[in-house]
Amino acid sequence: MNVLLVYAHPEPRSLNGSLRRFAVKRLEEAGHVVQVSDLYAMHWKASLDADDSIDRQPDARFDPALDSKHAFENGLQSEDIALEQQKLKWADAVILQFPLWWFSMPAILKGWVERVYAYGFAYGVGEHSDTHWGDRYGEGAMAGKRAMLIVSTGGWESHYSARGINGPIDDVLFPIQHGVLYYPGFDVLPPFVIHRTSRIDETRFSTICDALGQRLDNLWTTPPLAFRSQNAGAYDIPQLTLKDDIAPGQVGFAVHRA
Ligand SMILES: Cc1cc2nc3c(=O)[nH]c(=O)nc-3n(C[C@H](O)[C@H](O)[C@H](O)COP(=O)(O)OP(=O)(O)OC[C@H]3O[C@@H](n4cnc5c(N)ncnc54)[C@H](O)[C@@H]3O)c2cc1C
Repeated sequence: MNVLLVYAHPEPRSLNGSLRRFAVKRLEEAGHVVQVSDLYAMHWKASLDADDSIDRQPDARFDPALDSKHAFENGLQSEDIALEQQKLKWADAVILQFPLWWFSMPAILKGWVERVYAYGFAYGVGEHSDTHWGDRYGEGAMAGKRAMLIVSTGGWESHYSARGINGPIDDVLFPIQHGVLYYPGFDVLPPFVIHRTSRIDETRFSTICDALGQRLDNLWTTPPLAFRSQNAGAYDIPQLTLKDDIAPGQVGFAVHRA
């Protein structure tokens, strides 16, 4: 299988750097082919802007979505974007690895998503009708591929528990797992989260590697999170609200999981 690891940490000698090396080795030893997009090492350009198209017209008004569509459809995307899209097409599984920074991914990784997920590639695809509202949330270019987060947090596991001050980790990660990954069609596996990173010694590091190794060994068999498919009948279209008889009376992120 082909695995793309998109990695966002500026320091190779960090915990994330160590875990990245462990993950690549484990996957390769299992016979998989791994490509790593090491965003800091690549000096990845994080800002989506008019320079993302190679036929930029200096005086034209820049439209982030429509210019992305035009560049994607006409082979006019900047080369770094096109290369990452090729890697995504090549991959059977995609892993996003990052430290949690301000309750989300580091800006460089957010910029990777914004620029690589072009209009016509990751969004704006499929027909819109009374029964089908575009190929998204369970359908789309990434359908059939698996995705998983490897995330480290300074906060403790309890801080991210059901009543924890930071909010439940499933909620914190919902915009990434449901939005960034499920929206373009990935089957999203449960995240691998390392909490309380300030308290890691050799013993705990070894325990973390054992657990991560198991998750990687089971990358192809772990059941994905049961997000509800948009076009399979659970949602009214075009309102895109969950039907009243599903999870009646419940609200919030959790209702979008069966
Ligand atoms: C801008 C910013 C925003 C942040 N926002 C949040 C937030 O919103 N929520 C939150 O919970 N946290 C937050 N944090 C904390 C952040 O998530 C952690 O600092 C990060 O996850 C730690 O990962 P690291 O790879 O940088 O670890 P490091 O700091 O590199 O390492 C952590 C520990 O692991 C040890 N270690 C590293 N490698 C090994 C090895 N090979 N063997 C044994 N031990 C090892 C190190 O000695 C160290 O003790 C934030 C931090 C920053 C800088």
